[in-house]
Amino acid sequence: MPDELLERLRRFQADAFPAQRGLFRHLVEQGQHPTTLFIGCSDSRLVPYLLTGAGPGELFLVRNVGAFVPPHDQSQGFHGTAAAIEFAVLNLDVRRIVVCGHSHCGAIRALYGEVPAAAQNLQRWLALGRDAALPVAEPGPEAWRRTEQRAIVLQLERLMDYPMVRERVMQRRLTLHGWHYVIEDGEIHVFDVQRGGFVPADQADNAGTGPYAMDDPEAGLDSSGVPVC
Ligand SMILES: [Zn+2]
Repeated sequence: MPDELLERLRRFQADAFPAQRGLFRHLVEQGQHPTTLFIGCSDSRLVPYLLTGAGPGELFLVRNVGAFVPPHDQSQGFHGTAAAIEFAVLNLDVRRIVVCGHSHCGAIRALYGEVPAAAQNLQRWLALGRDAALPVAEPGPEAWRRTEQRAIVLQLERLMDYPMVRERVMQRRLTLHGWHYVIEDGEIHVFDVQRGGFVPADQADNAGTGPYAMDDPEAGLDSSGVPVC
């Protein structure tokens, strides 16, 4: 029986890699300098490189169930996403952090349903989205969509609890972006605090920087990063 995955690996090196050899060599010799930390859900239908048109070296990518951000202040445990945030901000000096959730998110639906008892890590992990859940007994598409979007904002708020993130946002060296990807439409809705919600990308006037925009140095920010109007 042919090993399809092995075949794909061989095809990559033989067919795809040669066209990018120079770029990868440059990225090895000069090191990586990605400007964006992309925190996305692990869902297979979310493809960050397709959405953003990014190529090698452009996105520092973290993916997990639900695109959740764990609290910075952890007294125990291993937190790959928290470590990645610290590395991206302190070592790579990224300029943007994108939190990208999506429609039909299994993590969000799991907030309203049963999780197998054996999935103890998943059960704990889902607590990071719990505050986004709505008080409805039988959620439908609208409740799921709202919960998906509320969960994204929740993660942005938690990002602001990371001292190195907060400091850079306040210094306007870093912007935070909340995106909700609607899979069936190929459309990103970007979070815009000033408009009070998510706006389709084709109607938005920024990539979702909301209150965290760097292009308005006169605007003040309150302690939560929301502009003082
Ligand atoms: Zn998801």
